[in-house]
Amino acid sequence: MTPSLEDFRTEAAQFLAASGLPRRPEDDTVVWGVGELDVSVFHNLSREAEAALIDELKSWQRRKFEAGFGAITWEEAYGGRGLPVAYLDAFDELESRYQLPRPHETFSVTQHLIAPTVRLLGTDAMKKELVPAFLRGEQMCCQLFSEPSAGSDLAALGTRAVREGDEWVINGQKVWSSGAQFAEWGELLCRSDPAVPKHAGMTAFMIPMDWPGVEIRPLRQMSGGTSFNEVFLTDVRLPDSYRIGAPGDGWKVALTTLGFERQASSNNAHVGGSWRQLLAAAQWAGVLDDPFVRQDLARAVVSERLGLVATARDEKARDNGEPMGAIGSVRMMQWVGRMLDVTAAARRILDHRLVVDSGEWGTFVWGDHVLGVPGYRIAGGSDEIQRNIIAERYLGMPAEPRGDRSTPWKETQR
Ligand SMILES: Cc1cc2nc3c(=O)[nH]c(=O)nc-3n(C[C@H](O)[C@H](O)[C@H](O)COP(=O)(O)OP(=O)(O)OC[C@H]3O[C@@H](n4cnc5c(N)ncnc54)[C@H](O)[C@@H]3O)c2cc1C
Repeated sequence: MTPSLEDFRTEAAQFLAASGLPRRPEDDTVVWGVGELDVSVFHNLSREAEAALIDELKSWQRRKFEAGFGAITWEEAYGGRGLPVAYLDAFDELESRYQLPRPHETFSVTQHLIAPTVRLLGTDAMKKELVPAFLRGEQMCCQLFSEPSAGSDLAALGTRAVREGDEWVINGQKVWSSGAQFAEWGELLCRSDPAVPKHAGMTAFMIPMDWPGVEIRPLRQMSGGTSFNEVFLTDVRLPDSYRIGAPGDGWKVALTTLGFERQASSNNAHVGGSWRQLLAAAQWAGVLDDPFVRQDLARAVVSERLGLVATARDEKARDNGEPMGAIGSVRMMQWVGRMLDVTAAARRILDHRLVVDSGEWGTFVWGDHVLGVPGYRIAGGSDEIQRNIIAERYLGMPAEPRGDRSTPWKETQR
């Protein structure tokens, strides 16, 4: 029987109160010099520390799942409760009152992008094995889409999958694969038919990341940390049962995952540092009377507020069953814009302290924000690609010339 929203809230509040998680302070004003200031956009952690963080997240997810709060809107067949999204919103709001383990991209990729893709397009065996394992937080999955010569133009990709009986032989290279070094699975997009136009000749697979022939090499970022990887695939022999979608239907599979990605990233309001933390820095540095500092801070406050209003509007539209569509691109640019406003204020307030580590609390650490934000001007579709989407699909402007849509992939210029 469906519980009332009120009963559900009571049940969730009891579970959270008994969880042992510390409560977040009611007032999130920063007390300068107290505790550890984390304003990172991407983790700047050693491999061991990042693995420990993922373990912490997995264990919290498992506890939630076992208590009936880990897959609130998912069908019962997957261990969910089949409740409307308002119940999920209610749980998220209650959960946000507690100090949770810091989020990790691999986790949201697994739960919000790839689990729903497998639910929609996977084989029965995949749905049975993988979806519950992803939702319980037992196994993680990464996205193996981009290649050195195929990012914005993903459909140009060249990792080859050649069918041999019941197997596919796969050779190629992926890059920027977030969290691949911690993932048990990868959603892999390959070129299976070079003789047809690029969008038609792709096939997708779910691949175990420890499969023979898969080599993962972490990439060092300018903000520290190694969140991304190169993944080399050499004579990988994958059974056909690992295919997701029909042969040649890989683009449809990729678009499904990317659609979930736009929805998920439109609600990313809390990544990186905030104007509240910068206000404390400005007070400490004695620059609060500087009119330029005040303007920068005001801009950061306004973009945060606009982001919250936009999220509320999107939630209402979602409750009315309206699809997100190209608004997802507007939101993506909006939340990256908020982070850039915070960057501008941080640069003004901290000045040389951003580049010289003087040991002063809460200063040099802002490099983790400033150097991390540009990554989100590229990830999930660069600024320019988002603008193209907004122009074509939202404003109805003419499409940019795409001359190679009907040319066989092997004849395209790459
Ligand atoms: C933080 C981060 C995480 C990522 N995680 C993953 C992941 O987990 N899995 C994965 O598969 N990939 C991942 N990526 C890769 C990401 O999807 C690509 O980097 C992105 O799509 C851009 O592709 P590219 O890097 O090849 O740049 P390019 O496509 O080579 O673009 C270079 C420049 O040209 C511009 N440009 C390209 N085409 C056009 C056009 N038509 N009109 C106007 N300008 C254009 C771009 O905006 C950009 O400025 C990640 C990237 C980042 C930064």
